[in-house]
Amino acid sequence: MPTVASLDLLTPVPGVPGLPVPTQKMLAKEGIDTVGDLLLRLPFRHEDRRRLEFTGFTPGEAPVCHHVRILSTRVLRFGRRGGVFEAVVEGAAENPLHQQLTLRWFSMPYMQRVLAVDMELVIYGKIKEAKTRLVMDHPDYEIVRGEDNDPDAAAVHTGRIVPVYRLSGGLKQKPLRAAVWRTLEFLDDASIRDLLPSPKEGGEFAGLSRARALRAAHFPPEQADLERARRYLALEEFYLMQLRVVRRRMRFKHTGGLVQKPEGKLLSAFVSSLPFSLTDAQQRCLAEIRADMAFPHPMNRLLHGDVGCGKTVVALAAMVVAVEAGHQAALMAPTQILAEQHFANAQRWLEPLGLRVSLRTGERREDHDEPLFQQGGGAGGQTHVFVGTHALLYEDESISRLGLVVIDEQHKFGVAQRARLIARGCTPDVLVMTATPIPRTLTLTLYGDLDVSVIDQRPKERGRITTAVREVTKLKEVVKFVRGQLDEGRQCYVVYPLIDESDKLDASAATSGLAEWSRHLAPHAVGLLHGRMDAATKEAVMRQFRSGDLKALVSTTVIEVGVDVPNATVMIIHDAARFGLAQLHQLRGRIGRGAHTSWCVLFTAKGDKEAHARLKVLEETGDGFAIAEEDLRRRGPGDVLGSAQSGQAPLRFGELLADTRLVTTARLLSERTLAGDPELALPAHKELRALVVSGEELETELGRNQ
Ligand code: ADP
Ligand code: MG
Repeated sequence: MPTVASLDLLTPVPGVPGLPVPTQKMLAKEGIDTVGDLLLRLPFRHEDRRRLEFTGFTPGEAPVCHHVRILSTRVLRFGRRGGVFEAVVEGAAENPLHQQLTLRWFSMPYMQRVLAVDMELVIYGKIKEAKTRLVMDHPDYEIVRGEDNDPDAAAVHTGRIVPVYRLSGGLKQKPLRAAVWRTLEFLDDASIRDLLPSPKEGGEFAGLSRARALRAAHFPPEQADLERARRYLALEEFYLMQLRVVRRRMRFKHTGGLVQKPEGKLLSAFVSSLPFSLTDAQQRCLAEIRADMAFPHPMNRLLHGDVGCGKTVVALAAMVVAVEAGHQAALMAPTQILAEQHFANAQRWLEPLGLRVSLRTGERREDHDEPLFQQGGGAGGQTHVFVGTHALLYEDESISRLGLVVIDEQHKFGVAQRARLIARGCTPDVLVMTATPIPRTLTLTLYGDLDVSVIDQRPKERGRITTAVREVTKLKEVVKFVRGQLDEGRQCYVVYPLIDESDKLDASAATSGLAEWSRHLAPHAVGLLHGRMDAATKEAVMRQFRSGDLKALVSTTVIEVGVDVPNATVMIIHDAARFGLAQLHQLRGRIGRGAHTSWCVLFTAKGDKEAHARLKVLEETGDGFAIAEEDLRRRGPGDVLGSAQSGQAPLRFGELLADTRLVTTARLLSERTLAGDPELALPAHKELRALVVSGEELETELGRNQ
């Protein structure tokens, strides 16, 4: 007598009763070995097939779902290999209007062997009008009647809210769905332990468990159940992520650290040598940083502020504190150009105080070894402040007494790089600067192991930036305007979009842009900057632009971060729609740095209303955080973060990251859990610990490959 199977998440797939052998094989090929693998592969959308009564075919932009019957099929050939397979269908339910729709598949001749008259399909796609007919091209479809199926198939695939899975390899929609259905039929809920602490009675997740959420995420009775299940599973995922983040934070806090608490003379000298006084926000952030540095545990702080708010000065001040405390300080920038610029600033502001500054990059090394600043302890001759790209990370001979590391534009560095630096034996204080306007939820995620200081105030006496979105047909007028500005002595950036710095095509777009703009702006001198140029050339071009020998600079986004030329007051961005809002905001932060009013023109393609609507927010506000929120709302966190997320394990529910409440709840729960059981050593946390540790290992792995 066979016993009734009872499945848990670790049961191998072949243990699911009644799973056809071809399905088993297909799952195995895709690496779906256990019931857990299968159930954690969540559908990417659902179709409500409970009521598929025919409501008429209406053309429109939104995809629609219909239950239809095939009336006739035919193949139209054109040319040698081209052809179209057409199936004329009508609503499968009562259809007094006899309205018809033509489904079309181009260059897929085998469709004539798949579909036949009288079959019933569920189709999903956009209906459009083509001459006198209504058509749907390449619909998603499923045969729900007329194919030899297993008998309960109709019950699984229709008459309910059905899951639709993303397919890969040999996976097919219906057998996959049937496999999930059968698995859930035999799943023993009691064997699935909840990872989350039990939800509060009356709270959003009351009555839910991990098992119930998994069930509803695949086959929800109602739409609301689906939503709740997805949020529960997202919370679970964010909880695991925050457990890693909070553990990292705790670990970091408990690894040694330096007390850097100098008298403050050098710092006062630095501050009073500045040509301006620090804003209140800068002073507050500096005070927070100094308090951290004075404390015996290592600082791990994020200095967060919109472009142009003056983070660099604050960072340099912190470096001065480290030097006065008898240590060295390092400043790391994501690109060569930025490293050069920081180096120039550091020289300008720190050398007069007697500090020795040296530049380290992957490309060259320039020491300024005049003994300027003597400090106690016989360290004469050594560099006080290193500036460089991440090549600094691999440098070890001369950086021996590192007290502070400043990382500029952190989003280009992964968590793992920071870890590597720390692993170099010393545990310096770490200050991370970022201008990426990240919404609060993402701060918790990306920088969740850092304390945060925010510069939320701009230096006074800054020119305004006026932004205008224009169709590219307005080029002539824009050129005229730019010429006017150049005639008045200002300078201009012209930016071409770039997806990948190594992409030849993008470089050539900028190169032909140079020719065009040289013509537009003659006789003013125009220069070119892109990522494929070697460092020396880039630097030479930047120097010419900074000195004003070049009046305009055509470039790719290599000028994105941190470049500081106050006399540049105009920025023209071509194909602006190809950028994210936050990135455009960062780009335009290169202007508006002096006292003059600045102008940013965002070009869109002719007639591209959608782009215009999206970019409009940049005309309306200069608040980076508001723009980031808007970006997040429109594009989802994956895109907003871009490369930022590298170094983090990928998220199944990434799009729900925008939900502040879920993320903050996850944070609270993880802090509570770790307060009670820092090592997750309790038997009740066994599975949790295994998941957290494997997540940490994955992140280390990702970091290594960066
Ligand atoms: P961020 O790195 O935050 O984008 P920067 O540090 O590059 O900004 O500062 C932008 C410009 O503002 C620089 O030219 C800097 O010298 C100047 N600046 C910084 N702080 C102040 C201040 N308190 N008052 C006036 N100008 C300032
Ligand atoms: Mg900067």
